[in-house]
Amino acid sequence: MPGQDFAYLSPMVFDYESRLRRLRESMRERGVGAVLLSVGPDLPYFSGYEAFPSERLTMAVVTESDAVLFLPRLEAPRVPDGPFEVRAWDETEDPIRLVAGSVGRPETVALGEQTWSVFTLALQDRIDVGWVSSGVLIRDLRMRKDEAEVQALATAATQADAVARRLPDEIRFAGSTEAAVAARIREMLVEEGHDQALFWIVASGPNGASPHHEPSSRVIERGDLVICDFGGSVHGYRSDTTRTFSVGEPTPGQAEVHRVVLSAQQAATAAVRPGVPCQEIDRVARAVIEDAGYGDYFIHRTGHGIGLDVHEDPYLVEGNDLPLEEGMAFSIEPGIYLPEEFGVRIEDIVVCGSDGPITLNDSPRELVVVE
Ligand code: ZN
Ligand code: ZN
Repeated sequence: MPGQDFAYLSPMVFDYESRLRRLRESMRERGVGAVLLSVGPDLPYFSGYEAFPSERLTMAVVTESDAVLFLPRLEAPRVPDGPFEVRAWDETEDPIRLVAGSVGRPETVALGEQTWSVFTLALQDRIDVGWVSSGVLIRDLRMRKDEAEVQALATAATQADAVARRLPDEIRFAGSTEAAVAARIREMLVEEGHDQALFWIVASGPNGASPHHEPSSRVIERGDLVICDFGGSVHGYRSDTTRTFSVGEPTPGQAEVHRVVLSAQQAATAAVRPGVPCQEIDRVARAVIEDAGYGDYFIHRTGHGIGLDVHEDPYLVEGNDLPLEEGMAFSIEPGIYLPEEFGVRIEDIVVCGSDGPITLNDSPRELVVVE
């Protein structure tokens, strides 16, 4: 049940009022009269409340004068104190009508990017305005993390690092299935303080060549490299880290590929500073891997933004010339994937500081030999 264990920080910690103020400034600049937010990270960003994903509509309506949260009466007790006026609707009421009635008659309304189409279509049917996606207003706000957000991301990263450090001591890789290792990672994330574990990739031997491999019944063997990529959330803010382990001593070929990925990861991290375009970080990582002759095997972008969502802006990818700014937070996670052989990926969460990178993860990045 997504959201079930969502732990809320009080408005004392996250300044929802100032976030709403900035949203309204952005609405005025762009001529948007109302913003409608439902499931996804935008609503918790402004309220501390994550909508329960269901056929019963939860929708916040932000206008110049009001911020109202419409939700099913049975979910009203979940809402923490915050800047929204709560309007619970009863089972026999029509929430689309209520939302439509609160929007007024603006020219343009912004709708949350992850709103279900069943609600989107019903709202578009009922409200005759121009529609835009909420991203045009909210992406810029969420992309630049304030101090409390960086602190939350750092807490999540530290807890994920604790899991990475425990793996060599507490897991016997050889003879275990990927699924069994993944299940332990999931438990450890919660043991270390995560509100919830959200993903747990364990990709061994040839499965490592598939970056988003689903942990399987494959039994891990000596001689395998094992990619472990996992994360979850703390107060809504995400962790995401990857370490690659060697079951027994690595072959020279495995060790060499790992060295190349680590150099790429470190060079890309060192290139982070305000003003550098996102694509430049990708180019730096890719150049190291291409120079070593593995360019064809680095098959994804170098990184993604992270915050209340595990993948959000800014994306570190060729074609994105957005300059980095202080407070932007993202992964740096180059990899090399050799089909039918093995894969290596190393991933840290990095914040762009005023004059360079602030790396939030610090578990060992070298090729740790495990049993
Ligand atoms: Zn990851
Ligand atoms: Zn990632």
